Amino acid sequence: MNLSRLFLDRCRRFAEQPAVTDDSGTLTFEALSNSVHALAGGMQRDLGIRPGERVVIWMTNRRSFIETLFAAWAAGACAVPVNAKLHPRELGHIVGDSRPKALFTTPEGVAEIEAAGAGAIPPTELIAADSARYQALKSGAPIEDSGTGEGDPAWIFYTSGTTGFPKGAVLSHYNLLFMAMTYYADIEHVAPGQTMLHAAPLSHGSGLYMLPHLLAGGHQVVLPHFDAAAVLRAMSAHPAVSMFAVPTMVNRMVQAARALPGWRGRISTLIYGGAPMYVSDLMEAMEVLGTDFYQLYGQGETPMTATGLSRFEHAKAYAERDLAALATTGGPRIGLRIRIVDEAGHDLPEGQAGEIIVRGDSVMQGYWNNPEATAKALRDDWLWTGDIGRLDARGRLELIDRSKDMIISGGSNIYPREVEETLLTHPAVDECSVVGRAHPDMGEEVVAFIVCHDGRHATPEELDRLCLDRLARFKRPRAYRYVESLPKSSYGKILKNALREALRGESQ
Ligand code: AMP
Repeated sequence: MNLSRLFLDRCRRFAEQPAVTDDSGTLTFEALSNSVHALAGGMQRDLGIRPGERVVIWMTNRRSFIETLFAAWAAGACAVPVNAKLHPRELGHIVGDSRPKALFTTPEGVAEIEAAGAGAIPPTELIAADSARYQALKSGAPIEDSGTGEGDPAWIFYTSGTTGFPKGAVLSHYNLLFMAMTYYADIEHVAPGQTMLHAAPLSHGSGLYMLPHLLAGGHQVVLPHFDAAAVLRAMSAHPAVSMFAVPTMVNRMVQAARALPGWRGRISTLIYGGAPMYVSDLMEAMEVLGTDFYQLYGQGETPMTATGLSRFEHAKAYAERDLAALATTGGPRIGLRIRIVDEAGHDLPEGQAGEIIVRGDSVMQGYWNNPEATAKALRDDWLWTGDIGRLDARGRLELIDRSKDMIISGGSNIYPREVEETLLTHPAVDECSVVGRAHPDMGEEVVAFIVCHDGRHATPEELDRLCLDRLARFKRPRAYRYVESLPKSSYGKILKNALREALRGESQ
């Protein structure tokens, strides 16, 4: 079963139900299907797109993103969704790597590409959503399903690239279908009329989880970008709203909801992940928004599926103040296996930290055009995630850090996350990030970047005290840098490389 066949079946079944709403209005499943299949016809007829070819989608959130994605599949193509916030030169690299037949963007996207100058983007057909050209593509005979196989590429997911150059994880139709099935099994059942709100980029987690939701008859409400007040307004306007958010967004929603009491329990499921959710923030979030939270741990290489902490587990841990449970990302998702191994691939005992490896039907086919990186990441059907974690007695994963973020000071390993969790318990600390700085004797030493809440301050002495009360002495930061904000990627992940760069060359 490929995704366009499934989409077609579901559109027939839920024909008169609302499928997608954005600033331009609402489309029913029938109207969405007509639009998608007309566009697929134009892709093949006018753009010469053949099965297996790539279509890049570089758009801010809007319904044409969803239209183009399903149209690419109906035409037999593989979609390459790219975050709209990337610089045209970063987009240019992805275009150069994936060599698409066409690039679908917005009118603003076309202007940005033109402003970046000739050569920023390798040559490809450039089409602006909803332009006259886009409409003309929809004017001929529709194509409903080009008969793509379930093992064929559906989505090339370029990794966020907080370091180095992004690699394209190739996800097949079956990988995504399996991801969708784990959504129903582990997260929530979706009934027609239920809403999923998209304020996070559709090119990433929000778009991936749009699939199970839409394919069960759910209504996708698409916001152009994240704005906490707009999210809360949209949540009030629709029944039973689920949403995917990265932790920074959850924290902003909590601050906005604090000013408008009565939010507890109004969200159907708030799915979060993609970056660390610190326990103190999570407790605060559940106090304000309720406990209908689902934490997921995954990566583009096993999209939205590796482990999960369910709504039940959130509610129980909140009621029992079980902070240890909330410090985990939960147990393996249904159908997936998780192991913690040493560098040679030997299993480590419970409680010991090592690399997380994952096996299951959501795991990618490999990296696009990059056999070397594929051979490193996929070994005997196991995906080596590059993340460090340990399992507790219940088989829940405590995700410690990216292996490359680990600090080695005087021969001892320091995982920044545990230092960050500690610093965040200071009431004046809003955000923080801990990195290593080169040190002549110790190899590296710990430096903490601190963002304080407006009008408040945490002194180095207070922060030291907190660390000394909770952590081994050698983990305590040797320096604090107070900053207005932390550098973040377009997906909201803290760019530790930029912080390390800022420290480089500083006198010891
Ligand atoms: P991406 O491929 O862009 O989705 O990034 C995946 C990476 O984000 C993972 O390898 C983890 O390092 C990090 N990540 C994902 N989920 C979580 C989570 N729940 N908590 C902490 N980090 C996470």
